[in-house]
Amino acid sequence: MTVRTRFAPSPTGMLHIGSARTALFNHLFSRHHGGTYLLRIEDTDRARNTEAAIRAILEGLEWLGLMPDEPPLFQSTREARHAEVARALLAAGRAYLCFCTPEELAAMREKALAEGRPPRYDGRWRDRDPAEAPPGIRPAIRLKAPREGETIVEDLVQGTVRVANAELDDMIILRGDGTPTYQHAVVVDDHDMGITHVIRGDDHLTNAFRQMQIYQAMGWAPPRFAHIPLIHGPDGAKLSKRHGAQSVVEFREQGFLPEALCNYLLRLGWGHGDAEVLSRDEAIRLFDLDGVGRAPSRMDYAKLTHLNAVWIRQADDERLIAEVAERRGHEGPLTPDVQARLRALMPALKERARTLNDLASSAAFLVRPPAQPLEAKAASLLAPPARKMLEELATVLAKTEFTPASLDAALREFAASHGEKLGSVAQPLRVALTGATSSPPIDAVLVALGREEAIARIRMIL
Ligand code: GLU
Repeated sequence: MTVRTRFAPSPTGMLHIGSARTALFNHLFSRHHGGTYLLRIEDTDRARNTEAAIRAILEGLEWLGLMPDEPPLFQSTREARHAEVARALLAAGRAYLCFCTPEELAAMREKALAEGRPPRYDGRWRDRDPAEAPPGIRPAIRLKAPREGETIVEDLVQGTVRVANAELDDMIILRGDGTPTYQHAVVVDDHDMGITHVIRGDDHLTNAFRQMQIYQAMGWAPPRFAHIPLIHGPDGAKLSKRHGAQSVVEFREQGFLPEALCNYLLRLGWGHGDAEVLSRDEAIRLFDLDGVGRAPSRMDYAKLTHLNAVWIRQADDERLIAEVAERRGHEGPLTPDVQARLRALMPALKERARTLNDLASSAAFLVRPPAQPLEAKAASLLAPPARKMLEELATVLAKTEFTPASLDAALREFAASHGEKLGSVAQPLRVALTGATSSPPIDAVLVALGREEAIARIRMIL
């Protein structure tokens, strides 16, 4: 059997990180088994679907490196096929026409609730002759679901889950207006797409029973199901705005690398020994559904940030320079000079950055001289004695070779000749060059800026 998986988002808003993880698991599972990974946009709810939401899904997947192997299938284009299958079930006696009016259904519902029963359709048209239909009603098609026995799902994550058929009513598969219901469309599409494994959030577990009944009625082999636990907030409650970022776009804007987000989402709810930092290739090699836990995962933003720092350190310098440039927005492209400075200092800058936004702000001094006035802490390092020292230092720097070793030696010698520790020289110098009290090593900063710019900045601050 060749594995075929699909990610099937409903385009009703942003791409949620829970959905991104579902896409990731589908991708990894299919790759691990040498299969195919597909995308189906479930856009049948026209009132709620927007172009913008579809774009958000595609852009998010692209950014995460989770684009499908074939062009996406839009569920809305398949209504005729959904109707055809519903009619086939009708013709085979596995479904029936239901002529209930909305008022009747509402009354049925209220009665059940009043009697403390779950609101289920009572099957009143199941065995009734359609000739008795009241005029003017466009009937819905309902599945003639089994009344006895159980429906069982052998879930690859949840284990064996079962429900008594008496608990499930005869669901509508095709509405009176000819549109398919969600449960029905999913089954027809998964069958036609040849999906072998349905990997999705465990909020869909109860749908699996209903969907199983449609497969059985059609005599189709069902796919294997794997319902993965949802992602909760750090406090165990449903992940929401107050916990922090939720959509892929927000993480991107906050300066997370897609590798870091994927790595984190993988580790959230899936484990393989103590493997923590995993590339896509390693993940594909190791991933399987038996490593997926059953307990809901808790989002840990600090851990994600830690992984992001790890991935930034491993990232290619040129790529990071492009990320810094992109974060300048309206300030325009980087000049060749500034690019050269960034190139020189990137190995040191990326050691310290936790996000790309951190990286961009710690690199900002390479683009332009420190803004005046300085922050109080920085300004306090530029008292008159320090200023006098910097003035002398500028003359020394004018004669020093701009390599880390010579600069380091020159600064040490300068400090010693003034009876100072290196730090007492380096700190005011750092403030003059960067406007901040912390930065990569001072000799590296000097080299990156170059002699002319370094001396100009010292003079400017004085
Ligand atoms: N469209 C559903 C959702 O976005 C997923 C359906 C499925 O995976 O079967 O939650």
